[in-house]
Amino acid sequence: MTATCSTLTHLSCGRCGERYDAEQLMNLCPACGKPLLARYDLGQAAKTMTRESLRERESSLWRYEEVLPIRTRAAQLKLGEGWTPLVCARALGDEIGCPDTLIKDESLNPTGSFKARGLVMAVGRAYELGAGDLAIPSAGNAAGAMSAYAAKAGMPAHVYMPEDVPAAFRVECSTLGAEVTLVDGLITDCGAKVREKVEEYGWFDVSTLKEPYRIEGKKTMGYEVVEQLGWRMPDVIIFPTGGGTGLVGMWKAFEEMEEMGLIGSERPRMVSVQSNGCAPMVRAFEQGDEFAEAWEGAKTVADGLRVPAAVGDFLILEAVRESGGVAIAVSDEEMLSSAKQMGRHTGIFPAPEGAATLAGQKQLLESGWLRGDETVVLFNTGSGLKYAHLWS
Ligand SMILES: *Cc1c(COP(=O)(O)O)cnc(C)c1O
Repeated sequence: MTATCSTLTHLSCGRCGERYDAEQLMNLCPACGKPLLARYDLGQAAKTMTRESLRERESSLWRYEEVLPIRTRAAQLKLGEGWTPLVCARALGDEIGCPDTLIKDESLNPTGSFKARGLVMAVGRAYELGAGDLAIPSAGNAAGAMSAYAAKAGMPAHVYMPEDVPAAFRVECSTLGAEVTLVDGLITDCGAKVREKVEEYGWFDVSTLKEPYRIEGKKTMGYEVVEQLGWRMPDVIIFPTGGGTGLVGMWKAFEEMEEMGLIGSERPRMVSVQSNGCAPMVRAFEQGDEFAEAWEGAKTVADGLRVPAAVGDFLILEAVRESGGVAIAVSDEEMLSSAKQMGRHTGIFPAPEGAATLAGQKQLLESGWLRGDETVVLFNTGSGLKYAHLWS
């Protein structure tokens, strides 16, 4: 088996710091039950992964191979993930009074969302470490991405979805060969079902932050934004937050990049946007809490934001606070109308979660938190196509 240039050294707990061998299948930290993070020999990585060498590399997230956990070529389950366009949205920016607005268009990933970045790592690592069946509780895009990479790896996949999930998400998974079970309840109820099955059959759970590698794929969004801006940091990054791996991953990326000498100590202000029908991070942020209490009666059309409780809550809050950022909530109506505004000015048909970032940007401009002369990157995390029913 041909080896990659991965410099992965070990895992360490994001909370208690306990160290673990990375060559075994792991979920949460056995000592404290919090998420594990992958660690690398960044000094070694910096020798080959330089601004210059990156110029010659492939147009996918695999260009950052040294700081990715996959050790063998056979486990790089490539479907064309990453290196999505950073689109200049000048006409949109002019209309809202913030001309230097850019959109990182994640809808161009395999299965139409940024979830592909995380799942290609989680499934690839599970494959090379010898996992059997894979399982995931998901309200949408994560399940499609897992199903795709499980199919590519030839691994059985089991998906647990809330029964009111839009047909497009369900049909995508079953067409990709996964076994789909609909659950009467929320994503947290699906999570409980998966835990039962994991105990009973020894399936491997690839839930957000419950295994260490999804965040490793998501962090490549941070590397890409900075590289695509010519090694410049935007002033503000606005990201829709559910489980939080996107935001936490980018924050981790900036730390690694600084340690490798690719950037200095500058950082963007990180904005976490949630739906006002499910805003546990916003509430915790406003109350100054370290952890977020679960949100009762979560309700929003943005399936990716319907996450009442996130295991990585303290990491999300830490990243937002350390960056000088903020957590804000927008309504479903604002998401749907912002989607149309983004669409007609940019040619991008966003998922409601992606449109939430524009709704958030407008709110922050209005309050004066964001100045009109700042460089802002919005993340359109997925395609609007799977949610077409919302506008019809
Ligand atoms: C999952 C998802 C999100 C939320 O991302 P997290 O990393 O879980 O916070 C946002 N947008 C879309 C389209 C998603 O599928």
